[in-house]
Amino acid sequence: MTGSNKRETPRRPATDIVHSGRDPFAHHGFVNTPVYRGSTVLFRTLDSFERRDQRYVYGRRGTPTSEALEAAIAQLEGGARTWLAPSGAAAVATALLSFTKAGDHILVADTVYQPTRKICDGLLRRFGVETTYYDPTLGADIAGLMRPGTTLIYTESPGSQTFEVQDIPAIAGAAHAAGALLAIDNTWASPLYFKPFVHGADISIQAGTKYIVGHADAMLGAITVSEPLAGRLVAEAGGLGICAGTEEMFLGLRGFRTLEVRLERHWHSGVEVAGWLEERPEVARVIHPALPSHPQHELWKRDFLGASGLFSIVLKPCSKTALAAMLEGYELFGMGASWGGYESLALPFDAAKSRSATAWQPEGPTVRFHIGLEDVADLKADLEAGFARLAATG
Ligand SMILES: *Cc1c(COP(=O)(O)O)cnc(C)c1O
Repeated sequence: MTGSNKRETPRRPATDIVHSGRDPFAHHGFVNTPVYRGSTVLFRTLDSFERRDQRYVYGRRGTPTSEALEAAIAQLEGGARTWLAPSGAAAVATALLSFTKAGDHILVADTVYQPTRKICDGLLRRFGVETTYYDPTLGADIAGLMRPGTTLIYTESPGSQTFEVQDIPAIAGAAHAAGALLAIDNTWASPLYFKPFVHGADISIQAGTKYIVGHADAMLGAITVSEPLAGRLVAEAGGLGICAGTEEMFLGLRGFRTLEVRLERHWHSGVEVAGWLEERPEVARVIHPALPSHPQHELWKRDFLGASGLFSIVLKPCSKTALAAMLEGYELFGMGASWGGYESLALPFDAAKSRSATAWQPEGPTVRFHIGLEDVADLKADLEAGFARLAATG
């Protein structure tokens, strides 16, 4: 259980997504790995119990169900070992706790997912880990922020809400030159469209709640690491008692099998809607890494294999009443946290509250869109009607 769960034979991602982590004839030929519910695992002999020499020893430490999803995610991420967590936030906290210690200094992207910031400013600070937030567009200049005690750089690319794309290979180079680790929150692109370990990451975090589950019906997280970190991940995450629920793991496996076809639709519909929004007079700018207007579009083109359906817009200045009229009247776009399900979302946000190393001064209200699997023409019609309500409200 402590070793690698990565499959060695190279296959194309669409094939891996369908086949990795599955062994039908270990389950009487059934295509899907069943849900193993269990805490107690029985041993046949005293010797065996004393040596814990079985493949499974206790529910929290792993089941055939958790192993199936861990192997599938590890394979797609290109890492050596994955450990599942009950949510993306738990995966972030577990990774940070597992790979830092009192006295460490860490560098964290200023545009990181806001609850990650809270972990750094609260839990980690209390335990003696100091955080410096960095401008995500620094690239190789991040070397100037490294100190003798800097042990980890924590990135998220593109950034939460504002979608700055980072030069991950350059940042990984700076981290490794100083003997530090590079961790990345890889949720936006999913391991299908960004290969963290190819670009120098040591630790990759996935909010499985988003595209892996893919149907807005479960919470799940995953931490994937390179081979040298595998033992530590298993020891620390296992020690913390981190494990995902059986039903959630099954929903993660079920969602995983269709990741490629879903993401392709999210990607292309997202780009089409983003391009359409860019032409609207009500919109000051669209922030989508796959659009040529994005400040780091070239980095996205260089390092990413695709885009997800999540991006933001900055509206021209308007009243809160007008914004509310636009958002509340949508028939297809729901207003709520999270994303990655089959359905479209539109969520207002204020990123200024969670920036300290960079300034975020948008021209007007900001809205994050998740483009779901609906027909794009229907989505545009819903957005169009929203702009009419915005204009009518003034
Ligand atoms: C949603 C999200 C998380 C947290 O995932 P949960 O499953 O909601 O806890 C972490 N990172 C990013 C980038 C996210 O979007």
